[in-house]
Amino acid sequence: MKFSKYNFVFENILPNSKRSVIYNSRTGALAVLESKNHLQLLDFVDNRTLIEDLDFKESLYHCGYLVDDDFDELQQIKLDLLSQRHDKSIMNLTITDIYPLPKHCFCQADHCNSWCIDSLGNVYKCLSDIGIENRKVATLSDFLIQNTPLFHSYMLYDATEDPVCRTCKYLPICMGGCPYFRIHSNRSCDYRKYNLEEYLAGCAKALFAKVT
Ligand code: SF4
Repeated sequence: MKFSKYNFVFENILPNSKRSVIYNSRTGALAVLESKNHLQLLDFVDNRTLIEDLDFKESLYHCGYLVDDDFDELQQIKLDLLSQRHDKSIMNLTITDIYPLPKHCFCQADHCNSWCIDSLGNVYKCLSDIGIENRKVATLSDFLIQNTPLFHSYMLYDATEDPVCRTCKYLPICMGGCPYFRIHSNRSCDYRKYNLEEYLAGCAKALFAKVT
């Protein structure tokens, strides 16, 4: 087994506690670790020392903190992206929970099941494109894709192939950031990149308060 490359371990973020917090962006799992378990985990990561507490090891595996040696996490993220992007049974909502769960498309703009329609029946992929004539991708009357380059820019982007994003630990919860900004200006990393530790510390404190 190996340590997931999407693990984030935070030490000293819980007040008056030696416990640490571990989060995995590919599975969304969040846990508070007792210091003895944290030490076991560190020993495994640094020295490949076997984790003797089998219940602890099983929990780590179950939550995705540990994965099989031959498991390619990036390929799994790619598979999830491609299968879910074209799954017509999924409604991709633009208003999501604040908690950083893994996502497969960034928003409605890069999901096959989501469209924006203006009062004239023009169809767009992104809310920010509404009203801009050359950014409509179809009309309701025939629903034939008219602006193929723009449509493809939204729908064919694969963050797992992006040279920067594919090595980023935030990839599962960001998937390349806002498509509109990516296409029309610059890469726009998800805001969680800048406040993940602070936010998860708050979640961990709330969780911890419930069980103590
Ligand atoms: S857009 Fe930024 S935060 Fe998101 S996956 Fe790419 S590099 Fe990471």
